[in-house]
Amino acid sequence: MDDMNKKEHVVIMGAGPAGLATGHELSVSGVKVTVLDRNDFVGGLCNTNEHNGYKFDLGGHRWFTKNEDLNAWFRRLMKDEIVWVERISRIYYDGGYYTYPISILNVIKNAGIFTIAQAGITYLLSALQYSVFNKRINNMKDAYVAQFGNKLYDMFFRRYSEKVWGLPCDKLSADWVSQRSAGLSIWTVIQESLLKTKSDNESLIEEFMYPRDGYVRIPQRMAEDIVEASAENEILLESNITHIKYNGPNDFAVTYQGANGEKKTVDATKVVSTIPLGVLPRIMEPAPSQDVIDAARSLTFRDLITVNVILKKDRVSIDTWLYVQDEDILFGRLHEPKNWSKAMVPDQSTTSLVLECFCTKGDHIWQMTDEEVGKRCVEDLEQKLGFIDASEVIDFAIVRSLQAYPVYDLEYGDKIARINDYLGQFEGLHIVGRGGTHRYNNADHSIEMGLLLGRKILGYDVDYMDVNTEPEYHEIKTSKDPQRDFYRVEEEVS
Ligand SMILES: Cc1cc2nc3c(=O)[nH]c(=O)nc-3n(C[C@H](O)[C@H](O)[C@H](O)COP(=O)(O)OP(=O)(O)OC[C@H]3O[C@@H](n4cnc5c(N)ncnc54)[C@H](O)[C@@H]3O)c2cc1C
Repeated sequence: MDDMNKKEHVVIMGAGPAGLATGHELSVSGVKVTVLDRNDFVGGLCNTNEHNGYKFDLGGHRWFTKNEDLNAWFRRLMKDEIVWVERISRIYYDGGYYTYPISILNVIKNAGIFTIAQAGITYLLSALQYSVFNKRINNMKDAYVAQFGNKLYDMFFRRYSEKVWGLPCDKLSADWVSQRSAGLSIWTVIQESLLKTKSDNESLIEEFMYPRDGYVRIPQRMAEDIVEASAENEILLESNITHIKYNGPNDFAVTYQGANGEKKTVDATKVVSTIPLGVLPRIMEPAPSQDVIDAARSLTFRDLITVNVILKKDRVSIDTWLYVQDEDILFGRLHEPKNWSKAMVPDQSTTSLVLECFCTKGDHIWQMTDEEVGKRCVEDLEQKLGFIDASEVIDFAIVRSLQAYPVYDLEYGDKIARINDYLGQFEGLHIVGRGGTHRYNNADHSIEMGLLLGRKILGYDVDYMDVNTEPEYHEIKTSKDPQRDFYRVEEEVS
């Protein structure tokens, strides 16, 4: 058979939301797909763990997108599994609770008029520096200070950001801020909290959708559709990809190692990679230059330890999320899964709290044993937050996740450009997803990128790399968003 007639076979590396979305779009159109993942579950970072019937995401995952076509796709996929969750987010800062998004009235109530005066003065100073004298924004700290002034930056952004990233904010790129909170300036905060004037087409989101039995149901639903679409399609778990050989345009051999250690190779006409961009060049043949290898090695991630504390108590908090700034508290964020969906606990007279401990493999937090992490979190909950009594704890479960947060250091853009330049020579190789493009994607971004990549492989003229690049606050909905093409769904092709 010559190349022109070779049957399309797309090998997808990673069964997280991005890989499965690509596979979903392709398989419903009849393209043969094989999805490989090193984990023994589908979902990647969107996994929902279960311990004695208590379900928990790695940190509460909400479904939210500004793209109404994607929302419609999501509703069709999840059908009657969706529950609506009211959003109440707060920040715990030096013993006080502050609403998030920040409200000026709430800051006055908690911190007093003196703090607000400081916030006002430091904001005016930064407005003068950045808006009038056009001071350059070089890093994450500058970006926050330019938007909020030094005092509010110090209260609400510095300590939490440094906990998440493990680096001082002046060593991190400003890009993260522009993707996450551009548009949420002090003026939006004042408008929201003082004037309460929400225009018709703009509002901070206050409710979101969630799958009743945990977020992993989204990737699981996509995986179900992929294998149902054709007996030829496969999702192979416990399959760690170790090598990708490029034989020529649209001709690859992907090698993976199964649970029993046996190595296998599968041929592909197209390869879709959602494995970390810093890893991919190091397993490609022909291999890259040392310069590209160095760039790939230095693209780093933050890792995560998730703790689920099970409690003999029917409810602890009112929050959807609570952000914990204080450095002496081990975790940076917590949520109560039962507040999201009652189905997350097996016994309604009990509840659970999920705590996110941001860390880097090998650091002092990672080196703590599971027992030490659990005990320390219970102590912090009891003694520092006053949320629980240690006698109420029934049990706890710990999950360690690698490569949870792609770090945007000051040189990350150059490194990505060098890697992409090298990868560009492989016709038929596509990168997508959070680790796959080293982009701070939410799950909806990874899914949207994946669906669009599927369409691109099907021959449509779409730019899937355009997703999650707009420099605006992700939580402001606006009716001015561009309407994208409809995504393909099963109903349309059956
Ligand atoms: C604590 C936390 C909270 C979050 N909250 C939200 C939220 O509220 N809302 C939201 O939308 N998003 C949230 N996210 C982000 C969301 O989890 C990610 O955007 C999403 O999982 C990215 O999907 P992906 O497919 O791009 O990558 P991943 O989920 O990382 O999937 C990549 C897959 O590739 C596999 N892989 C890697 N290397 C190999 C290899 N060599 N061989 C085989 N397989 C390999 C991995 O095992 C993994 O399954 C959160 C993330 C975290 C960590």
